Amino acid sequence: MRLRNIPGSREAIGNSEYVIPEENECAGKWKEIFGNEQPVHIEIGTGKGRFLMELAEKHPEINYVGIEKYSSVLLRAIQKMEENPLPNVRFIRMEAEHILRYFEKGEVGRVYLNFSDPWPKERHAKRRLVSREFLDRYRVLLKPDGHLEFKTDNKDLFDFGVEQTEPAHWEIIEITYDLHHDEKMNAGNIMTEYEERFSSKGNPIYKYIIKPYKI
Ligand code: SAM
Repeated sequence: MRLRNIPGSREAIGNSEYVIPEENECAGKWKEIFGNEQPVHIEIGTGKGRFLMELAEKHPEINYVGIEKYSSVLLRAIQKMEENPLPNVRFIRMEAEHILRYFEKGEVGRVYLNFSDPWPKERHAKRRLVSREFLDRYRVLLKPDGHLEFKTDNKDLFDFGVEQTEPAHWEIIEITYDLHHDEKMNAGNIMTEYEERFSSKGNPIYKYIIKPYKI
């Protein structure tokens, strides 16, 4: 995501009715926030929010929470929400490592990771959103029948993600090394901004669906 600091973006986000205030660590309060009992699905690293909002329009019976660390990027998502408000979408501006402050044990039905930052240096491996450290956090917030879906065009990151599953006690339910030519896994696929950009260059898109098993 290109990072251009947009003056006033932090304030705009702080004032938006679609963004959970930073001091409001809202674990256990999602039913109150949405005003209903619908399942909650989250996307971490939501960027400008296109994937999440398209999904939310197709699935009004699910509540969606988009998590993004940069105000200037999240601002774009907020502007889209103002043009086309969706009652089943909220955003949190935060660094994902704090995720357990915002979701209680078993509160989330599904986690989406799309084109997550690769953090290619070995010493930064723990920052990768598919690392064992993050899988341990997702295990806590996911419901017993919940799962995680990850898409990327970065083969090294994808291979790393696959390697992390077994030691973290997760199992792979479905996997493809060419999503757009995999009829079954591509059915109903919603393209993200990065997916459109990289697949138009001819890059294959990798995807897995994984779930934690009991330990
Ligand atoms: N998911 C979008 C897509 O597929 O078009 C955006 C992909 S972009 C490469 C990754 C996004 O994740 C960026 O907006 C970045 O700021 C955000 N991000 C990366 N690491 C994050 C973290 N630890 N916590 C929250 N957001 C993060």
